[in-house]
Amino acid sequence: MLGSVERVVLHVDLDQFIVAVELLRHPELRGRPVLVGGSGDPTQRGVVAGASYEARRFGVRSGTPLRTAAARCPEAVFLPADRETYLAASEDVMAALREVGGIVEVAGWDEAFMLVDTDDAERTARFVQQHVRERTALACSVGIGDNKLRAKLASGLAKPAGVFRLDVSNWVEVMADRPTDALWGVGAKTAKKLATRGIATVGELAATPMADLAGEFGPNIGPWLVALAHGYDSTPVTDEPYQARSHGREVTFQRDLHDVAAVRAEIARLSRTVADDLAADDGPGPPRGGHGAGLAVRHPHARRLPAGADPRRGGHRGRCPHRARPLSAGPPGAAGGGARGDRPLRGSEVSPGPPCQPGCTSARNLSCPRTPSS
Ligand SMILES: [Mg+2]
Repeated sequence: MLGSVERVVLHVDLDQFIVAVELLRHPELRGRPVLVGGSGDPTQRGVVAGASYEARRFGVRSGTPLRTAAARCPEAVFLPADRETYLAASEDVMAALREVGGIVEVAGWDEAFMLVDTDDAERTARFVQQHVRERTALACSVGIGDNKLRAKLASGLAKPAGVFRLDVSNWVEVMADRPTDALWGVGAKTAKKLATRGIATVGELAATPMADLAGEFGPNIGPWLVALAHGYDSTPVTDEPYQARSHGREVTFQRDLHDVAAVRAEIARLSRTVADDLAADDGPGPPRGGHGAGLAVRHPHARRLPAGADPRRGGHRGRCPHRARPLSAGPPGAAGGGARGDRPLRGSEVSPGPPCQPGCTSARNLSCPRTPSS
């Protein structure tokens, strides 16, 4: 008798990717708290790009300044970030996934969606894990879902090295009591806004009439949030070549720049690097226009800008309003020297406060928000 075949979405997510790649060449560090970032010297400025699970127990994660990380986790072993090696490992992983078959959509350098037809989704997921391990010696978690949202959330619940299925049959049971920011696309800010309306959990959000949220969140985002809480997602899995939605480079200077000319020179240098990244990434099809460029500067009086702050008047908002959900940082996201490897750059948290030096003012005026390209 033929078994029944179903079409499922798998979300494959590498476990502690950057650290795992480092452990392949430093097996003696297995089981120890390992932190990768910057030049690998915690007395220098820089942020954590990857933290092992052992280190995360000390409250250290991607984006934690290296010095803070060293204070929280004194036994940690620090390693310098090596972007090229991680990119090569990422390509090996994606090649392994394509060997499995189905449609493979690269979603970041350590994650991908797959659309597969299978008569045993759990077995297929285990096979994917095993195949990635055989090809790359790296471990991944696999979420099984009936859409991308559920598959993505399922892989988070599968970690580490597990398989978890989240679909319409167990959505309410698994998700209803979780806080709203457990949803992919709901961040801390949105969760806070929802909480002020008495909506703390996914279940409460799902029970909210869509129209109720349209006022505060807009006619698209408001209803979309309610749909998310139901586990609804209609975005297709596509194997069109991965194109990063944004490109950015950031650098942490070992000493503050006080000289306007030096600031300008660094901005020019970083801009050229981003332009090169863009050129290198321009895939098939017509050249892509951009929504604009932003610049984030951190200086000694840095403060957070309120949400929606006008980038022209200080700082740059890292998220494009045309994009409903935050994207995992893709391959271009992690530069050496203090860049963050596996989370998106959040411009608003490094926004300049009141100018204290001439350099800050000049840097801010260079910000060019969402100018349509010709
Ligand atoms: Mg990952």
